[in-house]
Amino acid sequence: MTKGPETDRLLCPSSQPNHPDARVFGVQTGHSPETFRVGYLTEAHPVTRDLLAQAGEALPTEVLRIAAPCIRCSHHDGIGCRLATRVATMLPPVVGAMPRCAIRPDCLWFRQEGKAACVRCPQVVTIARGATAFDEAVAGLSSQRAEDLPTVTTPAGSRPGTPAR
Ligand code: SF4
Repeated sequence: MTKGPETDRLLCPSSQPNHPDARVFGVQTGHSPETFRVGYLTEAHPVTRDLLAQAGEALPTEVLRIAAPCIRCSHHDGIGCRLATRVATMLPPVVGAMPRCAIRPDCLWFRQEGKAACVRCPQVVTIARGATAFDEAVAGLSSQRAEDLPTVTTPAGSRPGTPAR
């Protein structure tokens, strides 16, 4: 995938909530790492302070799947998203068909990896508490463990009903 106006508009489906265009498109269901599955919402909703508060004691990214325009973070090598590649090649499929997903038309992972990403996506947790070594290998960043993160960062200046910043 090359850099350009089209790819710059694509959405990362494992984003942080503090992007101005962040949208929640999925909610974690299940009660343990073995049973966690993403419940995909019928539409993506702007991130608000009230919505983030629904996470309670958890980090929003432990319980929500958030999409935002790709910022070409450390997972992006200038050609494509290596996180998407690891998800599509290292994880087992967990569903037989692509889930209904509100962001698919603009999803970078789907655009890059196709169905292989979608049938594995329901098991993805953006921030995994108690991540295993394998989880960290897939994530590519051992620092993404929840216990390593200092605090929940509620976007400064965000107000209920407005996109987080
Ligand atoms: S990889 Fe597929 S299921 Fe996951 S967010 Fe993208 S389009 Fe949706």
